[in-house]
Amino acid sequence: MRQSQLFTKTQKQAPKDEVSLNAQLLIRGGFVDKEMAGVYSFLPLGWRVLNKIIAIIRQEMNAIGGQELFLTALQNPELWKKTKRWDDEVVDDWFKTKLKNDNELGLSFTHEEPLTNLAVKHVGSYKDLPKYVYQFQTKFRNELRAKSGILRGREFIMKDLYSFNADQAGLDAFYEQAKAAYKKIFDRCGIGEKTFLTFASGGSFSKYSHEFQAVCEAGEDLIYISQKKNIAINKEVHNDEVLADLGLEKEALTEAKAIEVGNIFKLGTKFSQALGLKYKDEEGQEQNVVMGSYGIGPGRLMGTVVELNNDERGIVWPEAVAPFRVHLLQLGDTQKEAEKIYHDLQAQNIEALFDDRDTTPGQKFADADLIGIPYRLVVSSKTLEKNSVELKKRSEEKTELVKIPDVVKYFEC
Ligand code: ATP
Ligand code: MG
Repeated sequence: MRQSQLFTKTQKQAPKDEVSLNAQLLIRGGFVDKEMAGVYSFLPLGWRVLNKIIAIIRQEMNAIGGQELFLTALQNPELWKKTKRWDDEVVDDWFKTKLKNDNELGLSFTHEEPLTNLAVKHVGSYKDLPKYVYQFQTKFRNELRAKSGILRGREFIMKDLYSFNADQAGLDAFYEQAKAAYKKIFDRCGIGEKTFLTFASGGSFSKYSHEFQAVCEAGEDLIYISQKKNIAINKEVHNDEVLADLGLEKEALTEAKAIEVGNIFKLGTKFSQALGLKYKDEEGQEQNVVMGSYGIGPGRLMGTVVELNNDERGIVWPEAVAPFRVHLLQLGDTQKEAEKIYHDLQAQNIEALFDDRDTTPGQKFADADLIGIPYRLVVSSKTLEKNSVELKKRSEEKTELVKIPDVVKYFEC
């Protein structure tokens, strides 16, 4: 893409009321825009990043048998009354609205109820199980605090997968597969080393659920990490009994702030019982379907990547989720040569942002650092004297000259 045609411009300053680092950098770079507290639009650069994250999650969900669908955001209260989750006393972050005739509707904050209800129409026998479905869909949550930028939106996209198994053993086996898939997702997004499988409260469904917590100062959660076992426990279950269960000793744990980037839950039969999701087993006996749910916020994940990968000049995107792989900067009177390199990169499907703007080198360098694309290529009269371009990784200080005929080859391998 030509930067001269890009919809956004970079900004020197983030809005004064924006206190979170991820949103400050993303707004300044032109990735997102703040509509109001906790409500962010994704702009062309940010949408590219979000879609790369979504593509990684989609691949890993498909690899464990997930089928993608897309449910509605508008919610029928009747379903939620059956599980007692319509009540604001029970769920305090609902956004609710009304039809013209005054009937109430909800805006989805999760989708266990409608999906369980939908499964009733498609599951009747043990032969119909197991089933795994997921979506990338907008959730609305009337979050009390929305000071963490895109880490905590009042409107945000969630990947939510729901598992339907015939029995607990089936759920347990799938749960382990989902755990492994989540690990791959966070590894691929470049935050694997900082992300710990964390034991958290299972709520009313089971003893524990598991969160994936990325260690980060901007996090709102407190976890206790066992480096030896490579796991952590959330503060909410940090007591002598969770410790004994897990064979952990208090002294060996390190306390850290962390961001919950994902959460997996064994739901058991709570929703299937309430909404009548049953199947006939091999003996013809009716049984409740055993369920699980598995969430990731791609926007929160993107914000976490930013929080963990930046310096005083801007964002430093890991390659797998960067908006482009190469940032090609054309300086001075080098149009013809720069155009040719841009053309050659495109011909080989090497994603490049081409800074062809009529502006100063200083501005181009500052914007390249702020936007944070992994590889910067500079074409100037100086480099052309050596039939070369200057290559610099955003994550390193050193530069090198690459001969023009070798540029495409460099990115192919
Ligand atoms: P938190 O405790 O941080 O509020 P949660 O327990 O409410 O999170 P879940 O309901 O399990 O989160 O949602 C699944 C995933 O969706 C989370 O792990 C997180 O990645 C993401 N998520 C949850 N709330 C938000 C939000 N307000 N903004 C962006 N992403 C969110
Ligand atoms: Mg929440």
